[in-house]
Amino acid sequence: MKLVFATGNIGKLREASEILGEGFELVSLAQVGMTEDIPETGKTLRANSLQKAQYLYDKVGCDCFADDTGLEVDALGGAPGVYTARYAGEGKDFNANMDKVLYELSVCEKEAKMAEAMGLKVKPVSRRARFKSVITLIVNGEIKMFEGALEGEISREKSGNGGFGYDPIFIADEYPGKTLADITEEEKNAISHRGKALRAMAQWLKDRS
Ligand code: IMP
Repeated sequence: MKLVFATGNIGKLREASEILGEGFELVSLAQVGMTEDIPETGKTLRANSLQKAQYLYDKVGCDCFADDTGLEVDALGGAPGVYTARYAGEGKDFNANMDKVLYELSVCEKEAKMAEAMGLKVKPVSRRARFKSVITLIVNGEIKMFEGALEGEISREKSGNGGFGYDPIFIADEYPGKTLADITEEEKNAISHRGKALRAMAQWLKDRS
């Protein structure tokens, strides 16, 4: 089955092809001649995922899907969330985004220490976080959404050379002591938010065929 994937990221395209396996031919935006940025102005991951898939479907008129992913950090009230791609500001790289998460958590810890020093009872600052992915698939005009999450915590420092984005600061519950950038691509795909959402999509497509 041929599906256009709303991504310009070759790494993501390869990852999705590996997860979906045989029976699926994924086509990138460049291959369908789309070079413009797809608008992403929603307030939630679901809204952005739907907006991207709908935009693509309106342009190319064939079966396609889009994903939107966010990192939620509990101590930061769920931030960066829908702003994950541009947490440190428009045009900043991923080191800046990761540094901002580590910095904001260190501020929370300093505040907690100050409150403690003043005799207040405070809970230790949680580093609990999760990645969430939402995929919107449009097949023959029918819209279907799939979600996946990966639970873990934010490390104290960056580690590892693999992966992309926030991987060097995210420790999945399945691999204690290692960040997603320390484990192999295969290990990550088997547990990842996007892996779960993509496998749910593949299963749904297989069930209906
Ligand atoms: P997008 O919705 O896939 O564009 O993802 C939003 C932001 O989250 C991107 O800027 C990514 O770098 C980051 N991100 C998405 N997936 C992952 C992941 O698996 N690991 C680390 N960061 C990710």
